[in-house]
Amino acid sequence: MNESWNDTSPRRRGHLLDVAVVGGGMVGAAAALALGRAGFSVALVDAREPAPWAAADEVDLRVVGLAPSSIALLDQLGAWEAIRSARASGYDRIVVWDAESGATIRFDAADEGRDVLGYIVENALVQASLWHALDDAGVRRIVPAEVTSLSQREDRAQLELADGQSVSARLIVAADGAESPLRAMVGIGTHGRDYAQRAVVAHVETDRPHERTAWQRFLPTGPLAMLPLADGRSSVVWSLPEAEAQRVLGLDDDGFREALGVASDFRLGPIGAVTRRAAFPLRLKLADRYEADRLALLGDAAHAVHPLAGQGVNLGLRDVVELRDTLVDARHAGRDIAATHVLRRYARRRRSADGLDAWSFDALARIYAWQAPPLVAARGVGVRVLDALGPLKRKIARHAAGL
Ligand SMILES: Cc1cc2nc3c(=O)[nH]c(=O)nc-3n(C[C@H](O)[C@H](O)[C@H](O)COP(=O)(O)OP(=O)(O)OC[C@H]3O[C@@H](n4cnc5c(N)ncnc54)[C@H](O)[C@@H]3O)c2cc1C
Repeated sequence: MNESWNDTSPRRRGHLLDVAVVGGGMVGAAAALALGRAGFSVALVDAREPAPWAAADEVDLRVVGLAPSSIALLDQLGAWEAIRSARASGYDRIVVWDAESGATIRFDAADEGRDVLGYIVENALVQASLWHALDDAGVRRIVPAEVTSLSQREDRAQLELADGQSVSARLIVAADGAESPLRAMVGIGTHGRDYAQRAVVAHVETDRPHERTAWQRFLPTGPLAMLPLADGRSSVVWSLPEAEAQRVLGLDDDGFREALGVASDFRLGPIGAVTRRAAFPLRLKLADRYEADRLALLGDAAHAVHPLAGQGVNLGLRDVVELRDTLVDARHAGRDIAATHVLRRYARRRRSADGLDAWSFDALARIYAWQAPPLVAARGVGVRVLDALGPLKRKIARHAAGL
């Protein structure tokens, strides 16, 4: 158990916190930090210590594209400068093309009047930077500590931990990931679908430079993204049906280089050195509700989405902003921060926004899976028209940026 909790635990076991955040991934750690900086008494509980990050280490296999709205939040929280200067890769162009029709759509930072469209960063770096800032914001870390049960009373909720300790708070924030044990404990169901796909990830060298561009090719089997890394390599996120993902994972390096080269249409030339590979299951999983008695869901616990639009964590960080602002307003008004109408306000605002985005990503995945020639032709026309329609394209870019 972390010292910052150990040294006070005997006295504080019964102490009532404002908020206990369960799950210290990127979203939960940002929530704990944002609420701590807003003056709430906060504890962050996680079953595991976050993975350490060091500049000398190989780039973490899990990277995300952070939108301007996420960077603005990290900046407000005092974490962005450390992330940017450690290892972040700004990209100023997104090029998406259809393997079947060849239709292409491009987004340029210059068209948006911005220097960059976003940054590719390592999950482990973002998480480590947020955890590093927790002490300064007065957030207590309770780690490693697995939550085994939750009870809700009139004025508080209580978490029981696997080591026998308990934590009481006015509000529990569940940021415990797509399989959210807390969501199950309070009986909130989910809907969505399993794509029966996996995203194979790896970092690769390419013959041609990535040109600070996020490349994405839609194949009938799923999208292949090649995201620019700061060291000149590209980070591959290749969505494939389960069996095909297994086959690609099992290839030797030469076989993988060849398969990836073909799948990317050699857009960045032949593939050079490759790292080890990993794979993540893809699903759309939306919580039926974002709130229960004295509990709010956010991040993947509320919405796990297809990574094709690179928006999962960006949506989660927008949940953080909405929850913080809602709780601050409630406190100003002298209300209980976990009152039903307070949590419903947060839930109403985020659930509709997240749901709209999640189903749009799902629709995109389905449209790009069409293979019948007339449908492929129609898709090609649609994409070309969209690319030519400046105002509509700009609207999409601004939405993805969270502006
Ligand atoms: C291949 C791939 C590519 C992606 N690319 C992008 C991208 O480009 N852009 C983007 O925005 N998003 C992307 N995403 C999505 C993004 O990675 C997720 O949305 C994000 O990591 C979710 O963060 P989280 O903090 O909500 O959950 P998690 O990172 O899952 O964190 C949950 C935490 O809860 C803890 N926990 C769980 N149960 C308990 C318990 N009982 N007690 C205590 N602690 C517990 C876990 O230890 C963990 O630390 C991608 C996802 C995948 C799979």
